[in-house]
Amino acid sequence: MLELSTPIKFVKRVGERVAVELAKRGVETVEDLLYHLPFRYEDRLNPVPMSALQAGTTASVIGEVRGSVLLQTRHMPLFEMTVGQGLNTVKAMWFRGSYLRDKFHVGQMVALYGKLEPSRSSAGKFKMIQPQFEILPAHGGPDAEFSMLEVGRIVPVYESLGGTTVWGAKLGSKWLRRVIWGLFEELGVEEIKADSSAALRNDKQKNEQPQERSTEAKQERGHEAFTETLPGALRKRLKLPGRLEALKAVHFPEAGTPMTELMSAATPAHRRLIFEELFYLELGLELKRRRMREREGTAFVTNVKVREAIKQVLPFHPTAAQKRVLGEIANDMRRPQPMRRLLQGDVGSGKTIVAMQAALVAIENGCQAALMAPTEILATQHYLSARKLLGDVLSPRTGRPYRVTLLTGSLDEAAKREARGRIFRGETDLAIGTHALIEDKVDFDNLGLVIVDEQHRFGVQQRFRLMKKPGALDPDVLVMTATPIPRTLALTLYGDLDASVIDELPPGRTPIVTRRTTEERAEDVWEFVRKQVVAGRQAYIVYPVIEGAKDDQPELDFARDDEVEEASALSVAAGKKTADSSAALRNDKKRAGTPKVKGGRASVKTEKLFEPKKALRAAADMYEELRVGPLAGLRLGLLHGRLSADDKEVAMRRFQRGDIDVLIATTVIEVGVDVSNASVMVIEHAERFGLAQMHQLRGRVGRGAAKSYCILMTGGKVSEQAECRLDAMVRTQNGFELAELDLQQRGPGEFFGTRQAGLPEFRVANLIRDRAVLELAKAEAERFAESPDPAVSREERDAVWARLKQQWQRKYGLVEA
Ligand code: ADP
Ligand code: MG
Repeated sequence: MLELSTPIKFVKRVGERVAVELAKRGVETVEDLLYHLPFRYEDRLNPVPMSALQAGTTASVIGEVRGSVLLQTRHMPLFEMTVGQGLNTVKAMWFRGSYLRDKFHVGQMVALYGKLEPSRSSAGKFKMIQPQFEILPAHGGPDAEFSMLEVGRIVPVYESLGGTTVWGAKLGSKWLRRVIWGLFEELGVEEIKADSSAALRNDKQKNEQPQERSTEAKQERGHEAFTETLPGALRKRLKLPGRLEALKAVHFPEAGTPMTELMSAATPAHRRLIFEELFYLELGLELKRRRMREREGTAFVTNVKVREAIKQVLPFHPTAAQKRVLGEIANDMRRPQPMRRLLQGDVGSGKTIVAMQAALVAIENGCQAALMAPTEILATQHYLSARKLLGDVLSPRTGRPYRVTLLTGSLDEAAKREARGRIFRGETDLAIGTHALIEDKVDFDNLGLVIVDEQHRFGVQQRFRLMKKPGALDPDVLVMTATPIPRTLALTLYGDLDASVIDELPPGRTPIVTRRTTEERAEDVWEFVRKQVVAGRQAYIVYPVIEGAKDDQPELDFARDDEVEEASALSVAAGKKTADSSAALRNDKKRAGTPKVKGGRASVKTEKLFEPKKALRAAADMYEELRVGPLAGLRLGLLHGRLSADDKEVAMRRFQRGDIDVLIATTVIEVGVDVSNASVMVIEHAERFGLAQMHQLRGRVGRGAAKSYCILMTGGKVSEQAECRLDAMVRTQNGFELAELDLQQRGPGEFFGTRQAGLPEFRVANLIRDRAVLELAKAEAERFAESPDPAVSREERDAVWARLKQQWQRKYGLVEA
């Protein structure tokens, strides 16, 4: 008998050869196939009549083939087909459509899906360019037995499991419907609502004797015992349908299911599957949190002496938000369990001083602290400000000055060895360095606190992989990020951390004036920069790439989905056969964050990115141009990722000291750089930058009291999405607002850039769409872990934990901290 774990090759219509193909797409068992869900539906039960079609909409149209012709145009063959319904007709066209000539013949019933455009030759008529099509089974034809799957119902449409390979056409929607329908039949799954499903029952079931039906029902209940994944009481309380019924309703929706609910994955069946997925994720995170609370860390004391030590180094009055957040951190540090806290605060909100205060708590308790930064520039900057802050004061505990050690890759070997030695022997209180360096090679004498700055630059996976002495206590960990993380992402990616937010900027900051302009008006911009420099200020000018025509590498990963979409639209227009995939699907998949699609997109992205490179203004070239041209006479510096570490540091220090007026740079300066005299940020090719990036860049100015400016210069075509980003930048400086928009535009997989690892992959859930369900799942997971619900049987509880254990590693691959 078929079970969910049955290997796919034993399924009817699959077999060995196809199973090999399916395995390449991660489909190995019956269960895997059942979770290959439709990405859209066509209402072929109540199709829109041709007389009611509307221009500009995407619609599915059913009709009869009236005629077709293969035209030889100047560029390519064009296949044109007329599909009719009574007196109405629609014309469908496919470029390079020669392959379609023998597919269609007059009288066939077909379903077309695509965008309706008004016909130019005959008023009131429509055409569809490159629609997706399906030939519907004919009465008495070879496929007649499947006609109930293709017509007269809401029909599921799937991404082909053959992808773009030769299997693409075979393993598409038609095949999937048949195989999956067959699976449900063998599994004996009923519809969710017995009554309204009657219309959909096939004849076999109708003829069944009442007695047989009840055995079937019993069988199904038997099934439930090993296919259901949520406790009955929980399902009942939340009104969630059973798992297999939900799967069936998602694949083969009952007549009457609202199309809008189906298309937005909002049916009870969808919700059930989404909930299940998110529930297990949140349960796993909750478990991690609980385990962490069982570990042994240092219980720091924060007595008057410690507080005195902190106070004496403070260069200014902390904001209320800074105070509150430090309170939260100190609370954690006092506890004997290790702290795992995420500190979010917009650029310039003053996270560094909070981190220093936390470090002092550890140090005044006789422990060491480590501060890790993503780049050398930032590590060095932290080192300099720590020295400034702590350099002249004495520790009340030891009566000696604080000892701060810098450890970066650009130090020579002897210096590195020396630094490591001091850390190892406990002759350092605060070690500051790049992440990689501290993580891999440093042995601490007595490490009490680890601070990770700008965490989003590192993979989530490698968060706490710090060298620990055997038997040593777990250090407290404070993770800081300036990328405001939308709550859905925070709940998933960082669900195992407690969170603090600095939601207030230090006083005296004036809002940054943000303006848009174009390359044509560059002269005005340079003039403005010049004026600011004359007034004693400094400026940044940022470019997307380092060098122009010969450049093959952008400084960072630009996630510009608009370009990708344009590219895919182009490939469709060029007549590439795209089976069942569509831009809509790609969008959906992207949001779900599946890596296989990511790979595909990346290549499109690369192509598009480098094709128009000649027109791109680049940092190194513009440095030369501006130096002898519009900005001649000013002191210019150049900073980009390909400089040696030393050169980078020199450039940065000179800018910090004010020896450079204008720093021409790539996005290497995006993170953390703090020069309060800089008042102008010019971003060239702003249309190319992601929102989060632009927001970070803008955060480099407005750090002092002087009025600051951010000038977004566009050069070249500005897509609709880029337009939307630029508008948002001008409209708001609220990082969270921008982050939400960024997440919507790019999807969770891209939100942090491709460097981010560790985002869970979802089969059903979509973090942007399913926020409400996520919140519910989190609450329910906490409740489930907290107190045994008497309505949930012991077996059910055990089953949930067992399932979690089995899934956690495989599915989310989140490491154990
Ligand atoms: P970020 O959160 O982006 O890391 P920083 O910690 O670099 O921000 O702080 C930005 C600037 O604001 C720094 O120059 C810092 O000295 C200053 N600053 C931080 N907190 C305050 C405060 N409470 N009052 C005045 N200036 C502050
Ligand atoms: Mg910072």
